Formats: sequence, C-alpha cells, structure tokens
Amino acid sequence: MTIADGSASTADLDPADWAQARAQGHKMLDSMMDFIENVRDRPVWEPMPPEVRAHFRETLPDAGQGLDAVFEEFSTFIQPYSTGNVHPRFMGWVHGGGTVTGMLAEMLAAGLNANLGGRDHAPIAVEQQIVQWLRDRFGLPDAASGLFVTGSSMANQIAVWVARNKALGPDVRENGVTTERGLALRAYTSAAAHCCVAQAMDLAGLGTAALRIIPVDDSHRMDLRALQQAMETDRREGLVPFFVAATAGTVDVGAIDDLDAVATICRAQNAWFHVDGAFGALAAFSESKASLLAGIERADSIAFDFHKWGQVPYDAGFVMVRDGAAHRATFSAPANYLGRASRGLAGGDIWPCDFGPDLSRGFRALKTWFTLKTYGATGLGAVVDHTCRLASHLQGLIESTPQLELLAPVALNIVCFRYICADADRVNAEIVMSLQESGIAAPSTTRVGGKLAIRAAIMNHRTRLEDVDALVQAVIMLGSAEVERRVAPTVEATRILAEAS
Ligand SMILES: *Cc1c(COP(=O)(O)O)cnc(C)c1O
Repeated sequence: MTIADGSASTADLDPADWAQARAQGHKMLDSMMDFIENVRDRPVWEPMPPEVRAHFRETLPDAGQGLDAVFEEFSTFIQPYSTGNVHPRFMGWVHGGGTVTGMLAEMLAAGLNANLGGRDHAPIAVEQQIVQWLRDRFGLPDAASGLFVTGSSMANQIAVWVARNKALGPDVRENGVTTERGLALRAYTSAAAHCCVAQAMDLAGLGTAALRIIPVDDSHRMDLRALQQAMETDRREGLVPFFVAATAGTVDVGAIDDLDAVATICRAQNAWFHVDGAFGALAAFSESKASLLAGIERADSIAFDFHKWGQVPYDAGFVMVRDGAAHRATFSAPANYLGRASRGLAGGDIWPCDFGPDLSRGFRALKTWFTLKTYGATGLGAVVDHTCRLASHLQGLIESTPQLELLAPVALNIVCFRYICADADRVNAEIVMSLQESGIAAPSTTRVGGKLAIRAAIMNHRTRLEDVDALVQAVIMLGSAEVERRVAPTVEATRILAEAS
C-alpha cells in the first residue's frame, strides 16, 4: 500500500519474519552466554589491531544490512576488543564484573523501552522500591530521596547542587552564584578524594578554588583535626563552610574516612555532610564490613554505584538525599507539557525528572532490581567479603615475596604494591603495560606517597585465589625481564666502549 506521495504506508522497523527474528535472538543470546561462560579462556584485554580501528571509520550505510550481518560484525570487531572487566583477572581501576542476570534484565528493560523521567507506571515503582531498600540499608529517614544516575560523578555533582541551593536559597536558581554569601561558600574534602568532587564544585559555579583539600593520615583517612581547623579558620575570615565530602572507599587504597566523626564536625559547623561511597558504600551489604560505615546514617547525601561492587552492568550510579524536599526543590521546574494530572498516565507522586538534570531516563532500576532480588543482600555481601579476602591474600603474598613491596595499607579490596628495583617508577609502569598487553591480567597504576604503584582493585565476583597468584607470578616475571632488558644495553655499551679504548 502507498500513501499519496507514493511512499510506502509503513516504516515499521519490527521483523518481517518473527520466527527468523526469534532464531536470530537465540543465536545472539547463546553467543553472549558463551562469551561469559568461557571468559577465563581468553586474554583479559586485546589491543585493537589497525584493521579493527579502520573498520570504525566506515561511513554510515545508506541501505540496511540486516541484523545477521551486523551481529557478525559485532562478533568480529567489537566483542573481542572490549575493556575486559568481565574477566576475573581484570583488576584495573574500580570496575564491576557484571552478571548474566543483569544482562538479561537489561534486555528486558530495552524491550519495555520505558522512560523513567516521570508519569505513572510500574518502572517508576521499581526505582522507588530500590530507594526504600537503600533508605533501610543506610538508616536514612522516609523523607530521604533517591535517584539512579550514570555514576558517582553525577551523584556527587547532584549532592553539591542540592547543598549549594540549600545554603543559598531558591534565588540561586534564577540569579546564579552572585551574592556575597554565594561567593563565600567553601567546601572540604580529603587529598584522597576522587577528582569528580572538585569537578562538581567547578560545574556548580562555585569554583575548584572554593574546595579545601584536607590532608590524610597514614591510613589515607581525612585528618579530622585539620578539617576542623580549616573550617574554623574560614569562618573567622567571614567565609561560609557549607559542604564536606567524606569518602567511603578511596579510589587509590580503599580507605574509609571516620564518617561518624565527620558527621559530628559537620553538625557543629552547620555544614552539609556528604559521603562519596562510590564503591565502598556497598560494604553495607556485608555483615563483617558494614560497621566500617558507621555514621553513614547521619549523611545528608550519599553517592554510590551499583556498577562497581554491586556487579550491575554499566551504568547504575545512585544518589540519596536525606532532605528529599530540598533535593526536589533543586531541580523541579514547571513546564506545560510536563503537567501532572490527578488521574491517568500523567499522574504519580514522584517524577524522577524533579530530582536531577535528566528528563528522559532509561530503566537502570530494572537490572539493579533483578540483581538485588536474584542474589539478595547476602549474595552481594558475599562478593564484598570474598574480594576483601582475596585482597588480604594478595597482601600476604606481597609481604612474603622479597622482590615485592606493599605501598599502602589494605583497607578493603584494593592493593597497591610494586616490584623493587632501580628506577622503580618506570619499571613498574612498564610491567603494568606489558601485563595488560599480554592479556594475563589487567591491574592499573596510581601514585602512593609519590611512588608509582601497581594497583589491583579486586572487584569482580569471578576472581579466585589462582587469579591473584597468577598476577603475582606475572609481575615478578615481567619485573625481572624488564630489569634485564634495561641492563643489557648497558652491558653492550660497556663492551663497545672497552673495544674502542
Ligand atoms: C569510581 C568512583 C567515582 C566516580 O564514579 P563513576 O561511577 O565512575 O562516575 C567517584 N568516587 C569514587 C571514590 C570512586 O571510586
């Protein structure tokens, strides 16, 4: 059938042949299940060869190629060259491993294609149920709000925005940070905090210069005396201490600030108490580790990620705000087409678009809901305990291996160490690059006390003792090979010099 201008009367993108589409779907699902089931047999990571890179410079096709052909391309050019964090020997940065459950839930969410900006439908109820579960878990009141976001970077950003607006009043939304009080706001975080806290100050219009960096003690926790002094000094100078970001699980070593003590200081200073618990807050699911978070129940806001220790596929960040009304007042805006009805689809009390900068939002809640319900709090707690035990095992290996040196205390599941040798910074950076390229294991690097460290963040539920052992063996092997390689040219140079003289 054609309409007046002669074009086809349908632009339906659904399959013409559903039986064939089902078969294609089963094939794709099987293939990805195989990929995950056999992840151990593959290298952790493979660099993209030039022809693979070149493939992504092809122009947009005019004619459709069909699902089979595109899936074939995915299997050849994309699947083998991903980050590798599904792999049990991926220990770089702070990446979760994902689960089959999360993957399947993500597929269901995509099928529903729900928009979680607002309106009255069950997906909103799912997100709100998770808000309730986390209120209970952290001991926050019923008035506390929660919102799925991309990650803790955005969650920390939202906390700064809400705290800023609470400190300055609603006028700031119209006038910006222009008042004397606005310019006097000061925030505090430790030297071990994630860089997104400074970025949040920047993007909130307060400036990174308004963020005081408080030193840390030997265990990488915020120095509380220094915090108190900095706040008092600022106040004496007419400035307004308004926000403190404590960290529960620092990126470099996994240290947890004394949350209860920071809460007390904030209370006395009338400042907002925020916890960046990006990965560490999930320790709340572990019976043996939850007490490390004591004081988190006093937080004005908490940022964390389900996509790290929670193993939910990317992305699934979360922010909670004790004063839900203040949270809503920061973002809600009247718009005719977003009007709320007393009945019908445009009803509903909670519209997530009132709690963050996003209007259209995907159904991140579903993969998280499936994960929390499938494994239970106990299952997630077991992952926390298991990865912390592996970190202790790694610490033990390092301490009993003369070629290796531990560079920071092991608080949770992150271990910083290095191969001992001359020019250790360069050699250890080489070791990490070679490890990644070899596909044996993928730790990352950081700096601890000015020294370059090999950093193993053990986040993946698939990681086992043997994986940790393999990492240590590979580091020793690559370390000695690198030292030899460096010595060899010198020996050669000495011989040439000797011959020349
Ligand atoms: C990972 C992390 C962040 C950033 O979170 P994203 O989810 O990557 O945006 C912030 N703070 C800490 C402590 C982190 O570990």
